[in-house]
Amino acid sequence: MPKIVLASRNPKKAIEIARLLEPVGLDVLGLDQFSDAPEVVESGVTFAENAALKAGQPAMATGQWTLADDSGLIVDALNGEPGVYSARYAGENATDAENNAKLLEALRSVPPEKRTARFVCHLAVADPSGAIRISVNGSCRGRIIDDDRGTQGFGYDPLFLVPEFHRTFGQLSLQVKSQISHRARAFHQLIPKLQQVLREI
Ligand code: IMP
Repeated sequence: MPKIVLASRNPKKAIEIARLLEPVGLDVLGLDQFSDAPEVVESGVTFAENAALKAGQPAMATGQWTLADDSGLIVDALNGEPGVYSARYAGENATDAENNAKLLEALRSVPPEKRTARFVCHLAVADPSGAIRISVNGSCRGRIIDDDRGTQGFGYDPLFLVPEFHRTFGQLSLQVKSQISHRARAFHQLIPKLQQVLREI
């Protein structure tokens, strides 16, 4: 079975990705299985740049096909913040709870109808030389609510209300999130391209 390294150190994100990759029939390896995998500095200013860094550097170091996800939350009333800084919005190594608290504070005086937001996911696949062979993205629109709801998922999920479902990502099962999320939409783009690349190698 062909294999791919998943360049994510976020275990909850990795669970979602492993599920979304299931239809491809790949052996998915974690970065923790490679002692020579570098710690990547996310110095890009776009999701695409960071996804390319996160896929390319480990691929080159390990000589393996590597998939990376760079994702985050774009809030319209905050001029796109936290954006690429979503994981470190409240500071380096901030917890989800700290990031969520900072987001609610930033939106304190913003009325519900102006709390529109979207999650964005960019995926990059690098070949063993580190060259980016696939680059795709997906997004999902919603609204930031004031009280956290649900315990599923991770990150900003409990604050992100999906209007069509009247529920937050924190309330939706992994099964539903895996069909409608930004990540699901990015994988929808990725999978045929990945299958094409796998046929060539
Ligand atoms: P990354 O791991 O550097 O791409 O950072 C992604 C950050 O964006 C996460 O730490 C979360 O704060 C946020 N994020 C991305 N995707 C999701 C999601 O599906 N649900 C909730 N938060 C997310």
